[in-house]
Amino acid sequence: MRESFRRFAAARARADRPAVRACLLAWGAAPPVASLLAALWLGRSALPPRLGLRAWGMRAFVRERVPGWPLGKPLPPPRHGPPCRLGDPGVAAEVADLARLLRSGRAAHDPATARLCTVLAVGCMGYGHMWKDMGLAARAELRTLLAEAAPRLAVRNTGDMRWKKFLYRELCKSEAGYVCRAPSCDRCTGRAECFGAEG
Ligand code: SF4
Repeated sequence: MRESFRRFAAARARADRPAVRACLLAWGAAPPVASLLAALWLGRSALPPRLGLRAWGMRAFVRERVPGWPLGKPLPPPRHGPPCRLGDPGVAAEVADLARLLRSGRAAHDPATARLCTVLAVGCMGYGHMWKDMGLAARAELRTLLAEAAPRLAVRNTGDMRWKKFLYRELCKSEAGYVCRAPSCDRCTGRAECFGAEG
């Protein structure tokens, strides 16, 4: 175990993202979580250092999702990644609205799922495509995380809408004050922004 942590630390020191991700996979992380944490710990993610969680919540997240994380080893110190909107006026309320929306679509009402909902809400605060801002390897990994966190919500994205747009559209429908430009997507001039490819 000590050797594998040494390998992890060395990969991190040389900013070798695939090798950091491989260590996390070897410790039992699911692929999207391995991608997310590798990007976070290499400063390649727009997510905040603790993923929007409190310090103990972050430790719990790692314990739950990286079951082989070496016992007693500290979490890597944060590195600055691309900017995000966290800290801007009104953003905390927006994150809370998104987290509430995600939690409303949960299948399981356990703390681990609630934590994942928070991470996904915070993941909407980057300036780019959500899956890239979260450091995921592909858009499909975001679908996997959303389907795990909020399956009853994710299943409603039947038109393969961009996920961030979809979440805001759902907030719009819930009358939380996020207003779409048109009463229906079919009649909206912004359709390409909501449904275009997320490359
Ligand atoms: S296409 Fe227009 S109406 Fe539909 S979600 Fe996007 S902004 Fe809202």
